[in-house]
Amino acid sequence: MNRIRVAVDMDEVIADTYGAMLGWLIERHGPRWSPETLHGRQLFDMLELDAADALREAMHDGAFFAELPVIDGSQEALSAIASRCELFITSAAMEFPNSLGPKFLWLRRHFPFVDPLNIVFCGDKSVIAADCLIDDNARHFQRFGGQGIVFSSPHNANVTGYPRIRHWNEAIGVLAEVFPGAL
Ligand SMILES: [Mg+2]
Repeated sequence: MNRIRVAVDMDEVIADTYGAMLGWLIERHGPRWSPETLHGRQLFDMLELDAADALREAMHDGAFFAELPVIDGSQEALSAIASRCELFITSAAMEFPNSLGPKFLWLRRHFPFVDPLNIVFCGDKSVIAADCLIDDNARHFQRFGGQGIVFSSPHNANVTGYPRIRHWNEAIGVLAEVFPGAL
């Protein structure tokens, strides 16, 4: 049996972009937001126009993505997945084109076991041919040919209809449930 192909998103799945965005906002605008107030909502939907514009501008400077914290447990989980499956990192990075270089270097630094040829920076993820996609944004699952698996982030707390990974320490168990006998 061929090994299953697992595609994994970057932002808010292995890189704490959400925390960095929140930290950036709080530093400039004060503690007006918290993960609790943002529960079930997209961060950008909660912001006044000027704050949203300023944050987008900061993110267009690719340096924003260079020092993102690694999401807890992701290195161990991806290492385990890579030893049993075909692992790809798939990031819809085209909204912030200057992030491509910093994201690539970030992956080489924190996930050196991921083959550079298995890193895919793309726009529309429906082009990805994988058995599953682990992503915090369920909109990527709508035209994706494989199984979408939601990775928990405050904004997707109310999303249903897909298997869910709440912490990376659940990942192998969830994959084994979705693909019985394949791991
Ligand atoms: Mg994401």
